Amino acid sequence: MIVRRRWTAAATTAILLSAVLSHPGPGIAAPAAPATPITLSATETALVRMQLLDQAQLDRLVASGADLANRPRARDGRILADLVLTGAQLAALTAQGATAVQIVQRAGDGSRHYADSVRAAQTRTAAGLRAPAAGQRTTAAAAAVDTLQVQQAYWWTTSGQTFLQAQVATTATDDPDVEITVSWRTADGATGSFPLSRFEDSGEYQYHYALPQPVPNRPVQLTATSSLGGVSRAVTPALWPNATPPPLPAGYQKDFIDAYLTPVDIQARIKRLARQYRDLVDVIDLPNQTQGYRRNAVTYLGDPAVSAVVVESVRFGDQGMNGVQVRTVDPGKRNRPLTVGYRDRVLTITLATDTAGKTVSTTDEVAAAINARQPNRFRATVEDGSAGLPMPVAGPARLDDGLQGTEVPARPWTVQALRLGVHRDGSRVGVLAYSQEHAREWATPLVTLEFAERMLANARTDPATRELLEQVDVFVIPTVNPDGANYSFNDYNFQRKNLVNHCTGPTRDPRYRTSWGVDINRNYTVGSYFDGYVGASANCLSGNYAGTAELSEAESRNVIALAQAHPNIKFAMNVHSYGGYFMWPPGAYRADGRVTLPRPSIDESKMFLDSARRIVGAIAQERGTVTWPSQTGPVADVLYSAAGNSADQLYYELGIFAWDFEVGNDRWNPTTGEWEGVGFQPPFDEAHGEAQEYAGGLVEMVRVARDYAAAQAAAG
Ligand SMILES: [Zn+2]
Repeated sequence: MIVRRRWTAAATTAILLSAVLSHPGPGIAAPAAPATPITLSATETALVRMQLLDQAQLDRLVASGADLANRPRARDGRILADLVLTGAQLAALTAQGATAVQIVQRAGDGSRHYADSVRAAQTRTAAGLRAPAAGQRTTAAAAAVDTLQVQQAYWWTTSGQTFLQAQVATTATDDPDVEITVSWRTADGATGSFPLSRFEDSGEYQYHYALPQPVPNRPVQLTATSSLGGVSRAVTPALWPNATPPPLPAGYQKDFIDAYLTPVDIQARIKRLARQYRDLVDVIDLPNQTQGYRRNAVTYLGDPAVSAVVVESVRFGDQGMNGVQVRTVDPGKRNRPLTVGYRDRVLTITLATDTAGKTVSTTDEVAAAINARQPNRFRATVEDGSAGLPMPVAGPARLDDGLQGTEVPARPWTVQALRLGVHRDGSRVGVLAYSQEHAREWATPLVTLEFAERMLANARTDPATRELLEQVDVFVIPTVNPDGANYSFNDYNFQRKNLVNHCTGPTRDPRYRTSWGVDINRNYTVGSYFDGYVGASANCLSGNYAGTAELSEAESRNVIALAQAHPNIKFAMNVHSYGGYFMWPPGAYRADGRVTLPRPSIDESKMFLDSARRIVGAIAQERGTVTWPSQTGPVADVLYSAAGNSADQLYYELGIFAWDFEVGNDRWNPTTGEWEGVGFQPPFDEAHGEAQEYAGGLVEMVRVARDYAAAQAAAG
């Protein structure tokens, strides 16, 4: 949110984005403005891909606490950022020279896509299975040269378009002006060239690279030249990811997801799987119950536009506080003191009067009196702008928690994990897949549940799957943040955080109700905001609010508790959306000097990358979606610094190979020649596609774990 917030986000966030944008962003050409300008009504909220005027405009947005949905991408001095905006905010930005290029998702789209998916599922007959994609060709690996070293030269085809991506290092590392140009030739003789951009990390030269470039055909030769006269050896670009998973056997069962799933649906699915596959499943109740789908009941006493006090219940609305009333009254007598009484579910504040019988209590005095005399039932704060004003005679006003969901139980929630395997005793290498740390990422539990059900169903019919469950102990948490997810389904589609409100004072004003909560993936212990790392905030209304302390939230404690209780877990995948990324540690750096958490060793880095290529290959098997090499790598390099994220704690503290998916890759639009974002809650067909392809990626992660365990055993 941009306009209505008056405080300043942590300055480090602005530093982060400046740093990020000096890195030439991956993948997207800055599109031309659409013929018909994109507008929203003033109060409508939408996820909009904006082309910003300049870096300063982005910095101002970030400083004001803008809800950035994805990493901004820079090209030709222009910046593309996906922002959750109101129409008023969009109009203000447009007036400042920014251009809306795509409405990725409107506020109501999620609810409509959910309803559509449920309706369609109800009428759909059994879905057919899809044939696996054709096998992928392989080519020779790139060769190295003298003054210019080609570090990466990859090609791939997606949606019928072939792309080329290159990374080249010069030995003239300290010359910021050296320019490198890549020339390519295709199998049928077409040629072309494109310039690379210099990339520095932590102030040190790394390499030159460029966005994926469309090319007319399979490139067979690539050469780099520099402005200093350096020439690389001609190399043959390699097919990315150049890893093909085993073909699916005839009769392989998949496609178990036919609609979006709410946390209530997920709970039912877990129960059904446990019943259906008794011999292969345990359900684990994680130890920390969440707050539940609950909020304090609250109301304005007075007119917030004129003079008002915010009154809320100390207990949650569902605990008998919804419907409680509050009012101020004029005693009608002279020289009366300010009094507070509570009777028959009505809180009555009798205002003080002067010698003439005129009421004289101020808003501050009324709030203080409520807090002093009814501290166990009510909390009161003066509405922003009402400080010191006379308190009007007002009410009765009705306290309400404002929650719209009618089919969500209002009680603490027990988050559940599925444990799948033939030997669920810790004797086999463990794999953990967990999703929906962020509430609005509705496609992510579809990925993990599709994966779980594939493993279980095929264990009965496919010997290879059976063997995987013989060798690997699989843990799945489909929804880490069910309370936030319930809020996202029922109240506010763009909810990212959990439902715990740590705000105090004026930030508890109900006008901020869609901005409360803790960013679960910033609440962990390693490289955290509290340790001085970048990419989280102390502002309780920020989308990246880190919480009151490391692991202050039940949701994050649950993930760690599960991993700690099962030390055989060696691999983990944290499933998010959207954007099409495959990442691993380090996931954070310090603002000062951009110093990252320690880099993995050479051997471990190779393990991360080799495994990533296998998993990216398995994802592509479903419908050809290729995660770009530029979006495959350490979080801190390919996305942004995410202080206190879960994968870093799993890796650095518990020794787990911990990856992150951002499912929902941009789709290539051949008509416009643009990559288009899919958003958090796309039409169900797209979410279904994401679930199918990334579930295949998780199956490949199980194979990676099996192979790792076998290699360890062989090494003795
Ligand atoms: Zn996320």
